[in-house]
Amino acid sequence: MSPLQILSEVFGYDQFRGPQQAIVDHMVAGHDALVLMPTGGGKSLCYQIPAIARQQAGHGVTVVVSPLIALMHDQVGALHEAGVAAAFLNSTLSGDEAYQVEQRMLRGEITMLYAAPERLTTPRFLAQLESLFARGQLSMFAIDEAHCVSQWGHDFRPEYRALSVLHERFPGVPRMALTATADALTRDDILERLQLEDARAFVSSFDRPNIRYTIEEKRDSTLQLLRFIEREHEGDAGIVYCQSRRKVEDMAQTLVDAGINALPYHAGLDNKVRQKHQDRFLREDGIVMVATIAFGMGIDKPDVRFVAHLDMPKNIEGYYQETGRAGRDGLPAQAWMGYGLQDVVNQRRMIDESPAGEEFKQIMRGKLDALLGLAEATDCRRVRLLAYFGEDSAPCGNCDNCLHPPAIWDGTDAARKLLSTIYRIQQQSGMGFGAGHLMDIVRGKTTEKVTQHGHAALSTFGLGAAFSELQLRGVLRQLIAMGAVRVDAQAFNTLQLTEQSRAVLRGEVQVQLRESAADAGRKPKRSAR
Ligand code: ADP
Ligand code: ZN
Repeated sequence: MSPLQILSEVFGYDQFRGPQQAIVDHMVAGHDALVLMPTGGGKSLCYQIPAIARQQAGHGVTVVVSPLIALMHDQVGALHEAGVAAAFLNSTLSGDEAYQVEQRMLRGEITMLYAAPERLTTPRFLAQLESLFARGQLSMFAIDEAHCVSQWGHDFRPEYRALSVLHERFPGVPRMALTATADALTRDDILERLQLEDARAFVSSFDRPNIRYTIEEKRDSTLQLLRFIEREHEGDAGIVYCQSRRKVEDMAQTLVDAGINALPYHAGLDNKVRQKHQDRFLREDGIVMVATIAFGMGIDKPDVRFVAHLDMPKNIEGYYQETGRAGRDGLPAQAWMGYGLQDVVNQRRMIDESPAGEEFKQIMRGKLDALLGLAEATDCRRVRLLAYFGEDSAPCGNCDNCLHPPAIWDGTDAARKLLSTIYRIQQQSGMGFGAGHLMDIVRGKTTEKVTQHGHAALSTFGLGAAFSELQLRGVLRQLIAMGAVRVDAQAFNTLQLTEQSRAVLRGEVQVQLRESAADAGRKPKRSAR
């Protein structure tokens, strides 16, 4: 059968979507490919149809690598219903069941075999693949969720590393890697780790036009979230992400107290409870899942109307993957995030304190900075997001900044005052101090600590009295986001100057800030956009 016939007769669709046809043809012809397509874009057919076509042409079995057991089960079940000989090998099978599957595979009775990565790279399984390979009965490899191979990605799985053997042991067997999230760095890493440098890349647009993005400064984040849900998502299903298990539990309770149908989910909960909450979320209408990032991978609920982040994630890839769980049905949905100085400090600290090497930390800091840049942006969020994934676009008209262009003010002067104060404190006391103390000095507050260290004598003391603490916090956040101030986690979160500070001090770099609602009306300098 031709790919188009397979599409209609096996899967019941009459047309390929987007780049599917080109990808299918490329694979049927026996080449390698990297497929980047957003969630819901239709990646599965990109390997299922070539698998069927190639099997019919006498090439044997296609092996699909997937880390998600639930997804494997769903797909194999759906393929069975469509009359395709599919099976899976993972930890849920007994030894005997696994043996049966292997025997069927060796007899050539299976078109598509789904396998967990740690299974695939066992000597036993590799030997079986060798025997198929020797007989020309190993048709193709499809590596799903390929970003798991990259430690720069947000979901690194060491088992994926071992997949590089596929290329070495089975030369000439076409391979494809598929993922829904990968920035340029992760993409390069996938190509290198899986030795797919010569593969053709099929990159689809990552835009999710039905998702409206909003990022707000946190003031009273609980109240902000409640307001958001009550005003815009009453009775809707949604996901609220929090950083810690403790916060998940507290927030779930707070929402329940406010009359919202909320459930907690995190890795510390009993397995049965977790499963029950997940099932309820999937089956019942209008449940709000309050969760850590342990929740979501492989969960396919089409009518999630909002995803809220109460704490800032680590990077844009994580943010985009998590927000991408909203609105898979294509209907309007929202992604809301609250962020604050504390988030920035926490994330920095986690990087600084991680046992990883310096190169790794540098990359993580860069990724965090990109997310901070997105949060601080005064222009279209979508343009920024897509640009991060290498895509050009025009202002979207469906994000907070497009819908309500923020008033912006020039914080360059305030930034210079903060930086020169950090410099002077260091000169005078030979040590750094934290954000609160810095702002007290700049605003001219004679606190006990200021007196104790003689900081009222600094030439910058009180120079920024015209700024509110909120404004200075905003400026400081931006300076950290820009890398012009470093938070030293090893030394009580004290603030340090960096290479980049100099350009700001010299006035070569402008610091533009969004005017926060609480501060409207008391700007020294302001300009509406
Ligand atoms: P992904 O793995 O990229 O998240 P899926 O492969 O699960 O996406 O596909 C998402 C949905 O789109 C599925 O319900 C699938 O059946 C449907 N789909 C994929 N390709 C087509 C097509 N050509 N025509 C109609 N529906 C399609
Ligand atoms: Zn926009």
